[in-house]
Amino acid sequence: MAAARSLWLQEALLGEEAAETPELGENIEADVCVVGGGYTGLWTALRVKELQPDASVVLLEADICGGGPSGRNGGFALSWWPKIETLRKRVGDEEALRLVKASEAAVEEIGEFCEREGVDAHFHQGGWLWTATSPAQVGSWEGAVAAAEAYGEHPFELLSAEDVQARAGSPMHLGAAYEKGAATVQPAFLARGLRRVALERGVRIHERTAMVDLDRGAGSVRTPSGSVRAGAIVLALNAWAIKIPELSRALVAVASDMVATAPMPERLAESGWTGGEAISNSRLMVHYYRTTKDGRVAFGRGGGRLAFGGRVNSNFDYSGGQTEDLKADLVRLVPTAEGVPVTNAWGGPIDRTTDGLPFAGRLPGHVPIVYGTGYSGNGVAPSLTFAKILASSALGLADEWSGAGLNRGVPSRFPPEPARFLGGLVVRAAVRRKEGREDRGLTCDPVTGAVAGLAPQGFFRVKR
Ligand SMILES: Cc1cc2nc3c(=O)[nH]c(=O)nc-3n(C[C@H](O)[C@H](O)[C@H](O)COP(=O)(O)OP(=O)(O)OC[C@H]3O[C@@H](n4cnc5c(N)ncnc54)[C@H](O)[C@@H]3O)c2cc1C
Repeated sequence: MAAARSLWLQEALLGEEAAETPELGENIEADVCVVGGGYTGLWTALRVKELQPDASVVLLEADICGGGPSGRNGGFALSWWPKIETLRKRVGDEEALRLVKASEAAVEEIGEFCEREGVDAHFHQGGWLWTATSPAQVGSWEGAVAAAEAYGEHPFELLSAEDVQARAGSPMHLGAAYEKGAATVQPAFLARGLRRVALERGVRIHERTAMVDLDRGAGSVRTPSGSVRAGAIVLALNAWAIKIPELSRALVAVASDMVATAPMPERLAESGWTGGEAISNSRLMVHYYRTTKDGRVAFGRGGGRLAFGGRVNSNFDYSGGQTEDLKADLVRLVPTAEGVPVTNAWGGPIDRTTDGLPFAGRLPGHVPIVYGTGYSGNGVAPSLTFAKILASSALGLADEWSGAGLNRGVPSRFPPEPARFLGGLVVRAAVRRKEGREDRGLTCDPVTGAVAGLAPQGFFRVKR
């Protein structure tokens, strides 16, 4: 089984002639230097070129563009509606509505970008089923539905168990909220498509080029064989932002893992799961699953391995243990996959914040050094909104994006190491025990419940 790269990236690289740009081997200058070649970095580079076409933009990526989570994720392009309650707490009522609308628009903008630029990222607006797969999860969406209704908005349609079972082709679902604006993409086709368009717009990309030092005084980024001195620096580092001292306690890196089956289009047709809906249940260690254009099921679960300190390394790329668990979870939640071979397995780090929402801000330095991270497992669409924030901030523009409520620096912190890591292990074990029992229709003891309740907000707000 292929483990190092995701199914998505393997598919995307197959169709490319020159898969890598050269490593940086000299000292250069640029108006803007972007560090990180995932969605955040690539969208930001494009946005800078859109705002200031003459600006010189250099992008440095330690691996290849899309080698990180942007080429490994589930491909769910979701709005912030499921997180509306925490968004309101973070930025207030009015700004929360503006940002949630921006996140809805971001889903549409991904589709428009793909259409306009000829990027076939399999963008499909089949909606998202936010379901319950145990009695304890039923109604997890109620807070978000009520908060949306308080704004006079109705992004969710409530589905009975019967309805969701028919749509999802599985008897495991006990009810759901359906958000019809959500979409799926083939994530690596999107990342590699963004890279292609960025190159066409004149962005200079150097892959296999890690930032090894950030000189805040000089406004320069040092790499193993060169450097970029820039008028502004954008750190689009996802979970690797933990290595930046000011950001290290704002995040915990937690693995999310995925498997994909062999193509099984006939089975999907028999089961009734034919609308291309993205599905996730309401666990903190969320199960998320979707179909692919060639009729596979791609199935993932959050809440895997934890990083000690800033050690976000290749441990996150694959776990044999998680893969075995995932195979069992897959046939339990998607019974039509029983007996179909699992052909691919991979994982990646999630940059989880205390409240499950991302944040952006600026580090001290002589030039603007801006960062955006903390998507907490929901970055496919939000990274486009963050690119607007980061590009405006890097260019020193005072506009609705640089002024956004999520651009106010670190919102809150986890405890320092070793408490963060050890505490994380204890809380994760409690969540696993609690949710495992709930999956079997059982309740858990109050101590386990209380410890599990200390977990940071996950993919979206969960019932405690
Ligand atoms: C298994 C999995 C499933 C997911 N599913 C979903 C989903 O269905 N929907 C959703 O919305 N979100 C999902 N996510 C989250 C989503 O993938 C991320 O939020 C999103 O890709 C973030 O984009 P990014 O550009 O900020 O980060 P990344 O894609 O991680 O890009 C950051 C890049 O920085 C590079 N880098 C790190 N350090 C350095 C350095 N020193 N120098 C140069 N480059 C460096 C990395 O190599 C990496 O390529 C999932 C994540 C995982 C891991």
